[in-house]
Amino acid sequence: MTGHRRTTCAYCGVGCGLIVEQRENGRVQVAADPDHPANFGRICLKGASLGESLSTARRATVPRVFGESVSWDHAAATVADRFRATIKNHGPESVAFYVSGQLLTEDYYVANKLMKGFIGAANIDTNSRLCMSSSVSAMSRAFGSDTVPGCYEDLEAADLIVLVGSNAAWCHPVLFQRFYDPHRANNPNMVVIDPRRTETATKADLHLSLRPGSDAALFNGLLHHLRKSDKLDFQFLEEHTRGFSATLTAAQPFSIPHTASECGVPEKDIARFFNLFARTPKVVTLFSQGVNQSSSGTDKVNAVLNCHLATGRIGKPGMGPFSLTGQGNAMGGREVGGLSTVLAAHMSFTPEDCDRVERFWHAPSLARKPGLKAVELFEAIHRGEVRALWVMCTNPAVSLPNSERVHEALQRIPFLVVSECEAETETTRFADVHLPAQTWGEKNGTVTNSERRISRRRAFLEPPGEARPDWWIISRVACEMGFMQAFSYTGPADIFREHAALSGFENTTRDFDISALAELSNREYEDLAPIQWPVNARYPRGRARLFETGRFFHNDTRARMIPIQPRPPKNPVCDTFPFALNTGRVRDQWHSMSRTGKVPRLFGHTPEPMLAIHPEDAAANGLDQNPSGLVMVRSKWGGLVARIAPTRDQPRGTLFLPFHWNGRFAQAARANRLVNPATDPLSGQPELKHTPVAVTVL
Ligand code: SF4
Repeated sequence: MTGHRRTTCAYCGVGCGLIVEQRENGRVQVAADPDHPANFGRICLKGASLGESLSTARRATVPRVFGESVSWDHAAATVADRFRATIKNHGPESVAFYVSGQLLTEDYYVANKLMKGFIGAANIDTNSRLCMSSSVSAMSRAFGSDTVPGCYEDLEAADLIVLVGSNAAWCHPVLFQRFYDPHRANNPNMVVIDPRRTETATKADLHLSLRPGSDAALFNGLLHHLRKSDKLDFQFLEEHTRGFSATLTAAQPFSIPHTASECGVPEKDIARFFNLFARTPKVVTLFSQGVNQSSSGTDKVNAVLNCHLATGRIGKPGMGPFSLTGQGNAMGGREVGGLSTVLAAHMSFTPEDCDRVERFWHAPSLARKPGLKAVELFEAIHRGEVRALWVMCTNPAVSLPNSERVHEALQRIPFLVVSECEAETETTRFADVHLPAQTWGEKNGTVTNSERRISRRRAFLEPPGEARPDWWIISRVACEMGFMQAFSYTGPADIFREHAALSGFENTTRDFDISALAELSNREYEDLAPIQWPVNARYPRGRARLFETGRFFHNDTRARMIPIQPRPPKNPVCDTFPFALNTGRVRDQWHSMSRTGKVPRLFGHTPEPMLAIHPEDAAANGLDQNPSGLVMVRSKWGGLVARIAPTRDQPRGTLFLPFHWNGRFAQAARANRLVNPATDPLSGQPELKHTPVAVTVL
């Protein structure tokens, strides 16, 4: 096709609307959509360069079974046969899917339906487990539902923005631009809580460079201070919450001096933050991977939520806690049950919800209990308990912690299927079956961004060779397995209607309800404008905020305050491994670089994966003596070579290394070789932000 087409960005959870134009010469021009409510005409460099990432060189174009090119019929039959045989011999728990926040909602829905409803186990988990599952656990604990209460407009309406563990200037750049404009005089006050002096921290009015892992102590201290300053909303607490007394008792020891000592931050800075929060009614607290990726991530998020609940600052314009999702469709995956710990449509594994989903799907053997979470899943593979795995649209050989052990697991598993658009990734090297998937620009469907906004992702390119959409591939295998009736979809609109209908099926009080979209015609689905859920009879045009009235989704409608006892990282630094390694993103790369790695200009900002270290740490360890800057980094879990980048933005005793580089970019630089596999006990999210390591000169 040529001409304009509206779609959404392939990358982050901001979910920017884009207008793509395919020119006569075949080039694709990508521009910001001035009318999309996520970005209103803004765009970042990654989004703007999407047109340069569309090369079909190195794409997978034909199904491959044990290295041979085959037909789709042959590939689907092979996958179905092997899955059926594994289930017959070892039970449904011996098979698993590992999926992705890069999938579209319709793909996710079908994968979840096949695994939980028809295979009969809940062993489907997603790489979103690595991204925001601690926020899911914490919000579910506090609100009785996985609900982001506010919207992006709140960031513009706030007088104080608190960013906790978020380098939004790099990782959610367009959202950052919505509340920070260097040319504007009246930006809201900004407090950044992050051990590193990130790009975001350089723009802040106050940067608290706290000790890694001490976020919960800080917010316990804030809660205690709010009480002492008489800033609590007792009417809201009494009418709309439970657990306040025990929560405040837990926070009692966190005076300003004690909090300052726990966090390693000067008392005056702690007091300044607390007083700013106390006297500013319109506060939005944004939190992201810096708190989520922790062995106490759920508690950290609940410590944040406690402060907003205790002051009634939730669900109102310009105030509330706000979870920033990393991936473009992490939220959509949660809606359809892409996490092993939930059912579809935000239902859980209660007998009532299981019965409800089973009836709706006419499922022969609905899973009745949660399945394995990501890190557990690969351990179960390593032990030989999971014997057939289908990886869709993700690269776990790079992105999971303790990646050498993940490689062993992928080597050992008797049957590995990988649906992947690229001809080769670190994960496809282990695949018995490689199914060529369509990708951004070729697929149709929907995604949901960080503010609960559902937007269309539209196709504008012909897919190469025999690449197919993921929903089609999954349905094809499901039909081959004998589930023809339940998986005979003709397109993503069919799936979306079913998903919307399930969200309203016998709905009593669930937050996720888009039943008003269940009767869309194909034309209406094609033209669907961005809309925030819920979208139902009461809110046919969607809803910007939830909890305005103080009614939550626990049975008694009250939110829960959660008493928090801060815990340090699971694996502390020690004499042998004296540095705390933090891993994360750089500004212009995405995940394992299979798309951004195709765009030369995206390497201009960070050409290689540098190890950030304080210059005094570098000097004290003789690391500055090697002119090449190359060092050996070791942990209990693995080692790699990196080049140091001394910077005073990195606190003493800590290091930062990007996780993107791997394979053809830099096999030896895969950061997750080093990273410990500790997880949060509630969310299962790995502690990607804290691994004890040693660094020696090479
Ligand atoms: Fe894409 Fe995120 Fe950039 Fe928006 S901010 S253009 S969604 S990468």
